[in-house]
Amino acid sequence: MTSIFETESGAPIARRGLMLVLSSPSGAGKSTIARNLLESDPGFQLSVSVTTRKRRASEIDGVHYRFIDRAEFERLRDGGALLEWAEVHGNFYGTPRAAAEKAMRDGRDMLFDIDYQGALQLQEQAKADVVSVFILPPSMTELKTRLLRRAEDSGETIAVRLKNAKVEIERWRDYDYVVVNEDLDKAFSAVRSIINAERLRRDRRPGLFDFTAKLLSQTVC
Ligand code: 5GP
Repeated sequence: MTSIFETESGAPIARRGLMLVLSSPSGAGKSTIARNLLESDPGFQLSVSVTTRKRRASEIDGVHYRFIDRAEFERLRDGGALLEWAEVHGNFYGTPRAAAEKAMRDGRDMLFDIDYQGALQLQEQAKADVVSVFILPPSMTELKTRLLRRAEDSGETIAVRLKNAKVEIERWRDYDYVVVNEDLDKAFSAVRSIINAERLRRDRRPGLFDFTAKLLSQTVC
């Protein structure tokens, strides 16, 4: 199978973008970290998922998610338009394939705010390009406090999310990096360090072939 990260002719692109996967149980601070990253780093583009979940008052259709009904979700999924998909807390979520493929073909970095099921599917499809980070809360009490503070979900929804948090936390081993979000600034700076290092990886920089060849061709005495 052709990698989705090669040009049509199969030649490597000048720079391979990275697929940054951020996952965490609801309330661990992942969305804030993702927002900070998108605001401070123009190199990143958010993968806007489709979901059958009801829109929250603070969310904008097409910006945070594309809100669709179940029939439309099934049509996209069955037609192969989703790179990965999963049922999370009783709703369906999926990553549109076309936008992700285009960003990666163009060598841009993409941020995926998806759960552990989606993270595994992306890792299976594009192991070399995925960098996965799991955000943990400092304690279960703090997680509950943050969910209640958000005050955008019903009590029932919060209860489901808290119950599912343990199942999600058990998946920490599936990730490349784990960050405990006790202090938002420190957690964000840890994520920044991960990105900075990953961007310097040799295998993400095919341009180094030309650069080093040029260096080696130079003579100094
Ligand atoms: P929320 O309803 O709070 O926005 O998201 C619930 C969970 O679904 C979060 O863990 C979020 O990361 C995950 N999620 C959002 N979009 C996707 C997606 O496209 N695929 C998968 N697998 N999970 C997603």
